[in-house]
Amino acid sequence: MAVDRTAQLRDRLTAVQRRIEAAATSAGRDPAEVTLVVVTKFFPVEDLRRLIDLGVRHVGENKDQEAAAKIGALTEQERAWVTAHFIGQLQSNKAAHVASYADVVQSVDRVKIVNALSRGAERHGRHLDVLAQVDLDGSDAGRGGVRPDGLPELAAAVQAAPGLTLRGVMAVAPLGQEPDVAFARLARIATALRSDHPGADHISAGMSGDLEAAIRCGATHVRVGSAILGQRPRP
Ligand SMILES: *Cc1c(COP(=O)(O)O)cnc(C)c1O
Repeated sequence: MAVDRTAQLRDRLTAVQRRIEAAATSAGRDPAEVTLVVVTKFFPVEDLRRLIDLGVRHVGENKDQEAAAKIGALTEQERAWVTAHFIGQLQSNKAAHVASYADVVQSVDRVKIVNALSRGAERHGRHLDVLAQVDLDGSDAGRGGVRPDGLPELAAAVQAAPGLTLRGVMAVAPLGQEPDVAFARLARIATALRSDHPGADHISAGMSGDLEAAIRCGATHVRVGSAILGQRPRP
């Protein structure tokens, strides 16, 4: 018999919500401070619909074409229910298009992208929340992110850009680094950013494997894919 996909998603979603609650509680935090962004990349729009029916309000995608198709396929009602987060590496020629459907762009890492997103937002009459993606590694050029010493300039560019609001930072724990060490560093970077930009209080950190560490270190958003949707097919 075929697996009941909705039941499977419901069970895994519940399990992840329990992990978030347990991690927040043991860190002395209110679980309501942590927003779960369910990363639906590689999975069909039917799964996105099932998740919306299960009450998921934040979804994440990392490829422009796939994201545009899936978000565009939602009904008006479904679309109004969810906040769409773009979390993938951005090319400046795609950024204006991303601005046509995303609500939050978490992966902004250079001024060129800021300008392209801002133009796109204006053209489409939209407003985007922006997180600056921070590179906590320095050697791992492939995953994107601004080096911490470049963050003030990037943040100022977002602040000045029409159609964009700076909401905080995002990072991926570098491979081979203790997640607690990486996320504690991100927390210090976020604190420094808030002294210039008090409204930039979002910290997006933590995925399926390290969300507890991220929550201990103050994450306000966790981005969880495989723990809910299952193993992604290899590209
Ligand atoms: C795919 C992805 C995630 C989700 O990763 P899982 O390990 O499947 O939870 C989170 N953040 C980013 C930036 C991603 O690309």
